[in-house]
Amino acid sequence: MNLATNLPETFYRAVAPVPVEAPKLVARNDALAAALGLAEDWFERPETLAALSGNGPFPGQEPVALAYSGHQFGNWVPVLGDGRAHLIATLETPKGLFEIQLKGSGATPFSRNGDGRAALGPMLREYIVSEAMAGFGIPTTRALAVVTTGEEVYRRRKEPGAILARVARSHVRVGTFQFAASRRDVEGLRALADHELKRSYSGYPADDSRFLWLLENAIARQAKLIAQWMCVGFIHGVMNTDNMAISGETIDYGPCAFMDTFHPKKVFSSIDEWGRYAWDQQPGIALWNLTRFAECLLPLLDADQEKAVVQARVALEKFLPQFEQHFELGMMAKLGIAERRADDGDFIAATLKMLMEMELDFTLFFRNLTRGEEPGDASWQAAWKARLEGKAPGTDLMARMNPVYIPRNHQVESALKEAEEGNYTRFNTLCDLLRTPFGEKLNMAGFEAAPLAAEEVHATFCGT
Ligand code: AMP
Ligand code: MG
Repeated sequence: MNLATNLPETFYRAVAPVPVEAPKLVARNDALAAALGLAEDWFERPETLAALSGNGPFPGQEPVALAYSGHQFGNWVPVLGDGRAHLIATLETPKGLFEIQLKGSGATPFSRNGDGRAALGPMLREYIVSEAMAGFGIPTTRALAVVTTGEEVYRRRKEPGAILARVARSHVRVGTFQFAASRRDVEGLRALADHELKRSYSGYPADDSRFLWLLENAIARQAKLIAQWMCVGFIHGVMNTDNMAISGETIDYGPCAFMDTFHPKKVFSSIDEWGRYAWDQQPGIALWNLTRFAECLLPLLDADQEKAVVQARVALEKFLPQFEQHFELGMMAKLGIAERRADDGDFIAATLKMLMEMELDFTLFFRNLTRGEEPGDASWQAAWKARLEGKAPGTDLMARMNPVYIPRNHQVESALKEAEEGNYTRFNTLCDLLRTPFGEKLNMAGFEAAPLAAEEVHATFCGT
């Protein structure tokens, strides 16, 4: 089985990865392989290394590159597509269907001027950060493996080439819908929507109301996802419509990062000069992207387009209240309070303002609060105690919401640098810690600490 059995041909090109010189498996996710039902010795098999490097097929499957469009930083790009990625397999697992996609696996008809390749650093980065996201319990694509290619890629400098194998319920993006909608391909849209419902959702109606249901549920998932990101200080960095999955999984980790010192306007992407995708802009941008998604669905919602527009608008209007509910509940839980009061938005805003003004580390502040220390200033402490209404803070709740370990930029950067030199010790340690990020491990305090001024990383690069 492959994707081709479900989707109309306009959505993909049958194209194989481009073989590489000397593939070597440098990172493997045994737990994920087991969860996918892959054999215990799967990583040891020669055909596995071949499949993960693009040097051979995934047994029984046919590779494809997917087509999509997208708004990149607000600008419309009619044809993007997998320019350096190949969907190599769709697996039937006890938890449903999952796709395996290679990233950095060579040029495709969608490569434009790109070389179709990826550098080791950014692929290991996606591996660490997406696995951390999974460790936090936040929906995300997963990292299955990284293979070095034995070839060099030319970016800002010469870098070792690598291929990431990642796993997703579906690789369908807002941009995939835009691809069909911009071609006025209503049948394609319908097939795409049905494909996505089957892949990523359950319990939807059988009649034509399923398309509005899809819109409402994609909105609900995205509202929760953005709130979850923000509660751990995550900044995606490139929330273009082609980088937002309809499944509600975090996808396409590029110049993303977790904040150290809190600032609501923080960005890390070196190309995001205007702060379009800053930490506090993410709900607004998600809504903008979802509005593009809703526009694509209009022909499926109702034969009467005026009625369709009303339905879409009503659905979109639910996004911000849903986001706020998740964000406020999440932030209050971080503060040890299980329920949300009508005026808690103000208390959260005051908390964030204090963090910003005192230039506190986002993760450590909540961690210290969980440990019973008294971070923040005296007037904030007094306000918090007043909000607790004489009760003790819910420390179990706080311990579940406030990670001990996050993929701190300076740690990630040194892990990548050492890996480039052939030493994967720090990379493996980080991955281990982030698998269960809420539990304190012995002798690992160094990984909790905020960066020293000299260690701070201010920008990450797309690494394309
Ligand atoms: P991204 O910014 O990674 O989401 O990628 C945006 C678009 O550029 C997608 O269509 C990618 O497939 C394409 N792209 C990124 N890097 C490369 C590359 N090195 N070669 C070919 N296409 C690329
Ligand atoms: Mg992308």
